[in-house]
Amino acid sequence: MEPNVLPEKETLESEDAADPPLLTIFSSSRSRAFLKQFYPNVTLAEWNDWHWQMNNCITDVPALSRLITLSPGECRTPDIHPHNLPLRITPYYASLLDRENPDHPLRRCVVPTTEEFVFSPGESSDPLCEDEHSPVPGLVHRYPDRVLFLVTGACSSFCRYCTRSRMVGKSGNESNNPGRWSAAVDYIQAHAEVRDVLISGGDPLTLPDDALESIIQRLRRIRHVEMIRIGTKMPVSLPQRITSSLVSMLKKYHPLWMSIHMTHPEELTPECEAACARLADAGIPLGSQTVLLKGLNDSIGPLKKLMHGLIRFRVKPYYLYQCDPIPGSSHFRTPVSKGLEMIQGLRGHTSGYAIPTFAVDAPGGGGKIPLLPEYVIGRDENGIILRNYEGKIFCYPDKE
Ligand code: SF4
Repeated sequence: MEPNVLPEKETLESEDAADPPLLTIFSSSRSRAFLKQFYPNVTLAEWNDWHWQMNNCITDVPALSRLITLSPGECRTPDIHPHNLPLRITPYYASLLDRENPDHPLRRCVVPTTEEFVFSPGESSDPLCEDEHSPVPGLVHRYPDRVLFLVTGACSSFCRYCTRSRMVGKSGNESNNPGRWSAAVDYIQAHAEVRDVLISGGDPLTLPDDALESIIQRLRRIRHVEMIRIGTKMPVSLPQRITSSLVSMLKKYHPLWMSIHMTHPEELTPECEAACARLADAGIPLGSQTVLLKGLNDSIGPLKKLMHGLIRFRVKPYYLYQCDPIPGSSHFRTPVSKGLEMIQGLRGHTSGYAIPTFAVDAPGGGGKIPLLPEYVIGRDENGIILRNYEGKIFCYPDKE
């Protein structure tokens, strides 16, 4: 290959003759090899049907053991997990896991481990006190002009560090309930100060298109709701969910934004790229949310690679979060100084668009607090003393 010339992009197979716009097939060579090895009786069309993926998630240890060699530290009894976050992995996401290496970053994201049984001071099942700021079930109103609308407790895969592990994946979870949705919409209707609604959960894209549309439609009819956002991990955990019919529905309700939960550059597959492209082509501004996780993405190499990949996928890196102190999460948590070190390693060293805001969500419901490395050193009679990304000191003429 010529130096500085890109290899040709892998073309994803598109072979759905019956209904091409509804079910474009997303299949990289990696997916096809995985399918052949572990699901020999499953067709490519089934593999690329998000309903098939949802119905065939890996939810128990025997099924997981068929795909990866579990290590002694990986939990063999997730059904007795202390905060009961079940095991659930889509076959697609399972295809990204390293079969033999328990330290593989994506594997650590979704495979339960015995470390989840270790509780540390300061951990709590609702560390952000969302329940206290919930005027009606399924709605959190913590900031003046925006609300969090939790429309479901279901996800395609469960992340072991999930802030809402207290509510996701619970049997009998009430959040996926049209009666609750109506009460939440009525609250938003009655509060003219709410101009921004974040639809989240769980993962709202686990809902069928018509249920999701009925929620968005009702919100769109409220005059003071200027902005609707959807928080999802689907383009990463189940990119097949981003069907052309979903996208056609969503684009009727602009301005509609989407925050995608991304963790590691290995999630940036051709399938994920195709899903992001569909959303971006529909005019949906995409942002990413990444939790900083010990040993997974807490070094500048992988983190920068993730941020650069996101930009290539037309996703603006939005937030880098300190890992919230849910029970049994200390093995994932870095010191806050690590997040500052990551921002220090990005700012000035790459495009500003590729730099997320590092934030700690304050325990007790204090909201997100953005943190920056120290760039203001002090002040003298000539102005303000600043430090640049190389550590050089400058005086900017500034009078107070
Ligand atoms: S996708 Fe989001 S809501 Fe679902 S388990 Fe992961 S972090 Fe939690």
